[in-house]
Amino acid sequence: MTRLVMKFGGTSMADLERIRRAARLVAAEYDAGHRVAVVVSAMSGKTNELVAWTDGAGKATGRAMEGDDEYDVVVASGEQVTAGLLAMTLRNMGYDAISMMGWQVPILTSDVHGKARILDIPPARLETALDAGQIVVVPGFQGVTESGRITTLGRGGSDTSAVAVAAAVKAIRCDIYTDVDGVYTTDPRVESKARRLKKISFEEMLEMASLGAKVLQTRSVELAMGQRVPVRVLSSFVEPGENIDQGTIVCDEDEIVEKHIVSGVAFSRDEAKITLLGLPNKVGVSAAVFSKLAAANINVDMIVQSEKRSGEYANQLFTVGRRDAQAAAEIMEAAKAEIGFDAIKVDENVAKVSIVGVGMRSHTGVAETMFRALSEKGINIQVISTSEIKISVLIDEAYTELAVRALHAAYDLDKIGQ
Ligand code: ADP
Ligand code: ASP
Ligand code: MG
Repeated sequence: MTRLVMKFGGTSMADLERIRRAARLVAAEYDAGHRVAVVVSAMSGKTNELVAWTDGAGKATGRAMEGDDEYDVVVASGEQVTAGLLAMTLRNMGYDAISMMGWQVPILTSDVHGKARILDIPPARLETALDAGQIVVVPGFQGVTESGRITTLGRGGSDTSAVAVAAAVKAIRCDIYTDVDGVYTTDPRVESKARRLKKISFEEMLEMASLGAKVLQTRSVELAMGQRVPVRVLSSFVEPGENIDQGTIVCDEDEIVEKHIVSGVAFSRDEAKITLLGLPNKVGVSAAVFSKLAAANINVDMIVQSEKRSGEYANQLFTVGRRDAQAAAEIMEAAKAEIGFDAIKVDENVAKVSIVGVGMRSHTGVAETMFRALSEKGINIQVISTSEIKISVLIDEAYTELAVRALHAAYDLDKIGQ
């Protein structure tokens, strides 16, 4: 019998009524002849509440809150509740369901608490239950280290749990049920004219996710691409059999007939810009700056260096996640004399807006359209970065929505699929 993994996000688990609806969707797939493993998120808002509690309790180990193993013990608990509730609901409907916590499966992860990576899922326990006809409900987001400590996979991590479980049990597909009926050309909360994409390539989805489209966690797309797990994103706000045409398939590029030059616009407000002024323009300076940030586990995204006219000095600008901005600034400030720069500026009012599309590989003029559309709205571009299938710009945060809408219109994304 074919195996299927179904994942329900926080809004799909938000209360008992939603859990009952999810249970009906699960039961329908089971009745259609699949062996079903379900991965669930905590009720929406729950993880935020748990994180706030850990903030209030303070650090237990002296490490940053997210690196604390007790942080994971607390924040992993939200998913335990929904897994149990969904299993109970399914039992009440007459199905043989059982929950299995991350440590019971086990979902083995690294020990980087707060953002652990899945290392392995030995499939035996899951497979035994599935083969016996049980519906297995697994809490997303949580795992366990080899030494038995509970871990979590980073915010949005239940998507990754679901894809990893699908790969482990060789499921035919991983269905991600959420509060939108698929992947759109941009976040439909920002642009009401956003269109649903019937298919999107793994590569484009990977870029969209890592550039801020939170509909799927980046790591889940990486895993799906690497393990060749077909993923479908669809709405849980339907009854079984209703609206069967909905959803987006994330698949290989060559399975997509209708190719777009630009498939989507993504944005991220989780950005901060740090500028170092008057750096000596000599060998080894960048290495000194970035090795200090790397040692503190701070991820750097965009980097620009510009030489001053005299040539002796340069300015360097880089972006980091907003929650790392203060730490990055402090590290740089402490190294000011050693590195030898004049001043440092931190700007947390920036956002990154990006366009993504495989068609960029073979079409010219894509960047020009982007820059023109932004200039027509009077939006200043502070930094640009590109890769083969995306162009990102850093702008003043206040213009994020305006920029997203302008770019959506500039590439006619509101006409996709019509
Ligand atoms: P879940 O709780 O089900 O995991 P998330 O809130 O993590 O749901 O992700 C779904 C949300 O992602 C949507 O409500 C939508 O606002 C947002 N989103 C951002 N970009 C996109 C996009 N391109 N397509 C669809 N949804 C998007
Ligand atoms: N509950 C976790 C979060 O809110 C994981 C998830 O929902 O994917 O980040
Ligand atoms: Mg999510």
